[in-house]
Amino acid sequence: MAPASQPEFASFEFKPVALVESCFKSKFGIPRQPGLIAEARGSIVLLPPYNQPNIVRGLEDFSHIWVIFVFHEALREDWKATVRPPRLGGETRIGVFASRSPFRPMPIGLSALKLEKLNIAAHGRISLEVSGLDLLDGTPVLDIKPYLPYTDAIATAQGGFAKEAPAADALQVKCSEKATRQLEELRKAGRQDLVRLCLKMIAADPRPAYRREPQRQYSIFLEDYELIWKAGVETGQAEIMELRKNTSKK
Ligand code: SAH
Repeated sequence: MAPASQPEFASFEFKPVALVESCFKSKFGIPRQPGLIAEARGSIVLLPPYNQPNIVRGLEDFSHIWVIFVFHEALREDWKATVRPPRLGGETRIGVFASRSPFRPMPIGLSALKLEKLNIAAHGRISLEVSGLDLLDGTPVLDIKPYLPYTDAIATAQGGFAKEAPAADALQVKCSEKATRQLEELRKAGRQDLVRLCLKMIAADPRPAYRREPQRQYSIFLEDYELIWKAGVETGQAEIMELRKNTSKK
């Protein structure tokens, strides 16, 4: 019997239920998976008509959530069957479905995030404070689900080409005199978390494998700061030049 509809031609329209407010204001430097940098924080803010307390009833009892989102800054007309994951040095090609690349036929992402706090404000703002974030500011969220350890945490799972977490200390980070002063001021202002975030992001070496020239300067946009740093002359070294208060839009 012929099927009533042809599922291969079905299409679906999904609209965001929430938006991410993230400390990461540009893609460069964002950790490549959630949970790698605990200081990376943000909020998932529910959009109307989903901004009702009932929709999150019971969620506060879970420590982690699954967030399903759109890679809205990786939208492309075409797609490629293979990608070059950073973990393989950016040279070896692997099937896109064997990767977590943002460039996918359907640019949908999945992150397990720590739920720090559920905020329900009187004026209808409902936000989920999360940490260990790997998402860009403004990321549209399609769905939120509780993380269920009994089924989602699989102790015997095999990690393919990404067996271990990437090195957290790929680069040894030092600071210029200016950056030392600026980070010290932040510490005094109670922003040790931001200082740690800066240091950890650079220590993890966010550079793509094919752009690793020594002495090159890079900018990372964090909250309303521009973190300017330079790769060392020696491999394995980096220097934070400046943490500039950013007045432009980014
Ligand atoms: N945990 C997710 C994301 C992996 S890719 C998953 O496995 O599906 C992570 C990278 O996506 C980050 O390093 C960042 O550069 C990029 N990214 C994060 N949010 C994005 C967005 N909204 N649009 C495009 N790229 C994004």
